[in-house]
Formats: sequence, structure tokens, C-alpha cells
Amino acid sequence: MKHTPTPWFIKRHDTTFKIESLATSPTITEWRKSNPDKRQDTWEGTSVCELSVRYNGSGDKFGPHQIISTEEVEANAAIICHRVNNFDAVVEALENVLRDTSECSCSTISPFCSHCKARAALKLAKP
Ligand SMILES: [Zn+2]
Repeated sequence: MKHTPTPWFIKRHDTTFKIESLATSPTITEWRKSNPDKRQDTWEGTSVCELSVRYNGSGDKFGPHQIISTEEVEANAAIICHRVNNFDAVVEALENVLRDTSECSCSTISPFCSHCKARAALKLAKP
């Protein structure tokens, strides 16, 4: 499965945090040209997901309410967003190493060979 392209960024609306993708949206510069009258914070990236303070329903079958704080929601959004951005950046860097180094002839993964190490790391990242 393929996720929405990175980079992702977070937009806060009160207690809700939206994760949006910059990659598949017009850049702010392009957007400004076509929307000169709009405020910059109304610019929307492609929506990835929305995280907000929630509780787990009400009534006995749901157990006690569990409400997480706005700060915790923000931390969760930051983790999701930054991990995915970092992961994609690392994969891209590894793919560049493979492209920019010549194919090696090591019979086993050599700790001294960039090509071997990049190939092994990519295999772990994209099994
Ligand atoms: Zn090698």
C-alpha cells in the first residue's frame, strides 16, 4: 500500500490537528497567485488525517471516559507526521546511494561497502 506523499505538515484548528500533505497540493506561492484575497492560513494541503480530543463514548459498556489532553493529541500528530516524513527522507537517501554507487560484487553484506549497506537497509525499510 502507498501512503499520501510526504512532506506532511500539521495544521492546528483549536483542539483539532490536521495532517496535510504538501506534495500533492499547489505550493503556497502558486496558491497565492490564484487566491490573492484569501488569508494564508486558509490554504489547504491534501488532507491525510485529523486528530482531536475524543472520549470513548458513554455508558457502562464503554468503561470510564478517557479523554486525552490537547497536548497529547498534538504530540501524537507530531509523531505521526515527523516519523513518516523522516522515513520517506531516509528511503530516498538510500535510493540515491544505490543509484550513485556502482553495483558491488560482495558475496555477503560488507560493513565497509556503502552499496551493500544501503541495499540491506532499504530491504528492511521496504520489505
Ligand atoms: Zn557490497
